Amino acid sequence: MALHSDAVQIDAAVLRAVNAPLSVESLTLAPPREGEVLIEMKASGVCHSDWHCVTGDSVIDLPAVLGHEGSGVVVELGPGVTGLSIGDHVALSWIPACGACRECDRGLPNLCQTHLPNLWSGLMPDGTRRMVDASGDPVFHLAAISTWATHSIVPAFSCVKMPDVPFEISALIGCGVTTGVGAVLNKAKVAAGDTVVIFGGGGVGLSTVMGAVLAGASRIVVVDRNPDKDAMCRSFGATDVVITDDLTDAVSAIREATDGRGVDYVFDAVGLAAIESVLLDCLAPAGTAVLVGIPSTGTAFEVDAAEFIRREKVLTGSIFGSADTARDFVDYAQRYLDGRLPIDRLVTERYRLDEINEACDAMLTGGVGRGVIVFD
Ligand SMILES: [Zn+2]
Ligand SMILES: [Zn+2]
Repeated sequence: MALHSDAVQIDAAVLRAVNAPLSVESLTLAPPREGEVLIEMKASGVCHSDWHCVTGDSVIDLPAVLGHEGSGVVVELGPGVTGLSIGDHVALSWIPACGACRECDRGLPNLCQTHLPNLWSGLMPDGTRRMVDASGDPVFHLAAISTWATHSIVPAFSCVKMPDVPFEISALIGCGVTTGVGAVLNKAKVAAGDTVVIFGGGGVGLSTVMGAVLAGASRIVVVDRNPDKDAMCRSFGATDVVITDDLTDAVSAIREATDGRGVDYVFDAVGLAAIESVLLDCLAPAGTAVLVGIPSTGTAFEVDAAEFIRREKVLTGSIFGSADTARDFVDYAQRYLDGRLPIDRLVTERYRLDEINEACDAMLTGGVGRGVIVFD
């Protein structure tokens, strides 16, 4: 395939105003600059973090092309790109690590802040934009990957070259799977025989279940308010499913199921203050609560401070599965191939890009599993 340096016309799901429907538009995408590649998108998940941009719970500059859970093929290399070739199948990472800062040095690449100011301002790492709309006005990116588009310009360091798995598998590894599995394996470090509770049976919650199964947890309790999720949670390895929207009832059920002791680990895969407030109540002495679902900016919740001292409980958070994406994306794909991470069973619906609003609606109305946009 010839290298070229012309702009290309793409179709992309554009958010023009908070709480407005997404509009699928033709945009002009400039060619890759130094250190960038052009990706032909193949699959993209629909994640609650995208929805937070739609509602304004996450404030971003508009208009913007959303989508941050995607995979595709490298179709053009910008100047100076090494380590990637045309035709490579890549999953895209929404927190690229610089490899040179204190956090990267400490083995915490998911906490690398180097590129975040520009990325969270809707810009490429160099502070510029690559997309313009039909009126010639520039359009903002999301995390420099904007995966709800037929093509995207992304930094080479946001690409992880993947083993030969289906594109929808590598797309989901790009956010939901890594967020859930990594919270268990990298952050909590759940061990064989430990007991686990997970609030939320959506894409991230089910990924957390998969992580707990991989870790050998002896008891995996999922709490969700949607009865339709019961069978799905059990099929992923939940040993108990508590269906209730009353969190006091949920805590009672968890304590009863553990002879009053509580569990070793609790994960909130939803991101609501009401859930966060009861996490410590679910825990055994020295237990750890991990916040995974991202609440609206400024959300506060109360906890009983004495629990930290009298029972040495731990409260922490995990962003993007506390992942080293270069390592973990490939590892999770390999575990999928080995039959130990049934990521394919997360995919419950497939949509075309022009069905993006329908896909969002399905996620909000408690659809089980994950909806995926597929590009052909
Ligand atoms: Zn996400
Ligand atoms: Zn860094």
